[in-house]
Amino acid sequence: MTNASANANLSTNQDYINLEDEVAAHNYSPLPVVVASAEGAWVTDVEGNHYLDALAGYSALNFGHRHPELIKAAKDQLDRATLTSRAFHNDMLGPFCRDLAQLVGKDMVLPMNSGAEAVETAIKLARKWGYRVKGVEADEAHIIVMENNFHGRTTTIVSFSNDPEARDDYGPYTPGFTSVPYGDLAAIEAAITDNTVAVLLEPIQGEMGVQIPKEGFLPGVRELCTERNLLMIADEIQSGLGRTGTTLACEYEGVEADVYTLGKALGGGIVPVSAVAANKDVMEVITPGTHGSTFGGNPLAAAVGHAVVKLLATGEFQQRAKELEPRFREHLESLIGKGVQEVRVRGLWAGIDIDPELMTGKEACKGMAKRGVLAKDTHGSTIRLAPPLSISAEDLEQIVQALEDTLEHARAAKG
Ligand SMILES: *Cc1c(COP(=O)(O)O)cnc(C)c1O
Repeated sequence: MTNASANANLSTNQDYINLEDEVAAHNYSPLPVVVASAEGAWVTDVEGNHYLDALAGYSALNFGHRHPELIKAAKDQLDRATLTSRAFHNDMLGPFCRDLAQLVGKDMVLPMNSGAEAVETAIKLARKWGYRVKGVEADEAHIIVMENNFHGRTTTIVSFSNDPEARDDYGPYTPGFTSVPYGDLAAIEAAITDNTVAVLLEPIQGEMGVQIPKEGFLPGVRELCTERNLLMIADEIQSGLGRTGTTLACEYEGVEADVYTLGKALGGGIVPVSAVAANKDVMEVITPGTHGSTFGGNPLAAAVGHAVVKLLATGEFQQRAKELEPRFREHLESLIGKGVQEVRVRGLWAGIDIDPELMTGKEACKGMAKRGVLAKDTHGSTIRLAPPLSISAEDLEQIVQALEDTLEHARAAKG
C-alpha cells in the first residue's frame, strides 16, 4: 500500500493530513482522504478504503489511473532517455508532434508542460502574430477574453480573471485584455478594436461549473474571427481529449479554432504535458530563442503524450463518453427538484447546481466521500463530475447514486 520506510510514524489519513497542514502551503483545501494507490477509476487511501474517482484530476486522468499502455510507454522511455533539453533533438518529439497535430487538424505543435504555460504561449503567439502578420500598433495588441474564465494561475492569466480569489492581491495586472460576458457575441463584436488580435475562450467553461454556451455561440465567434482577422484561441485544456465525446469540444458544433491549447489529459495522468497547436502561418512567427521551456518536449513527456494520442486516435474513448452520456444525464436529471436545481452534461462531464438551501457543494462532496465517491465542488453550490472515460457503466451509476443518497440524507435530516 503506502511506502512504509519513507513514511515512518505515519499511518492514518489524519497523520498525513496533520503533516501536510504543517509543511505544505495551504493553497488548497482538500477532502480528508489521503490517496496511496490508484488504478482505473478507483483510488485507495492509506487506511485501505476504496473510492471511485469522479474528478479524475480535473480531466488529467481521462484514461483512468495508470492506464497500462501509458504506463508501458513511460517505463520503456525511462529506460532509454528522459530529458535532453531542446538544445538537442530527441527521437520522441517529432513523432509526438506529428501525430498530435494530425489528431487536432493542425500543422504544428509547440510543446510545453503545464496548461498555464500553454495559454501563456498562445497569448505570446497571438500578440506576435498581431505585430508581424496583422500589423497592429507596437505594444498595443489586444485580446478579448470571457467573464468567468479559467485559464490558469500565472500573473498575466489571473490579470484577466474576474474571480477575486484567483486575482486579488496579485497586481499590478498585465494590460491588453478585455473581458466580455460568456456567450455574448454582440459584446465580443463591440469590444473589437483595430489592435485586437485574438478571442480567447473555453468552448465549455469547466472551472465555472461546466457552463455550456448556447448553440450557435462558437460558430458565431468563428465567423466573427474570420471576418475581422482575429485568431480564435480555444482553450481545450479541460474540455479536450475525449471528455465531451469528441476529441475537441469545438467539434460538437463543427467549429475549427485557429489555435488550440491542450494539457491535462495530454500527460496521461503521469507527467505534465501541454501543447499549443496551430497552422504554419501562425506558428512560424515563433523563431529560435523567442520562446521556450527547459522541460517542454522532453522525451519522457513526448513518449507519454504520443501514447495518449494513439489512444485517442482509435476514437474508442470519445465513443465511450458518447455512449455513457445518455444514462448519466438521465440519472442526474432525475435529481432535479430533489436537492438539485440544474444539471449541465456533455459527454462524461457534468456540472450540478445543488440547492444552496439544502447544502453547499463542499458538504455534498463530503457526503459523497462518505459513500465512497470523490468529487469536487466549485463556486459554492456546484459540483463537477468528470470520471475517467474508461469507467464501467456500473461504477458510473454508483457515482450518481452516491450523490442521490447524499441529497436524500440531507433532505431527511431537514425534515
Ligand atoms: C486546468 C486548466 C488550465 C491550467 O492548467 P494547469 O496545468 O493547471 O496550469 C488552463 N485552462 C483550462 C481551461 C483549465 O481547465
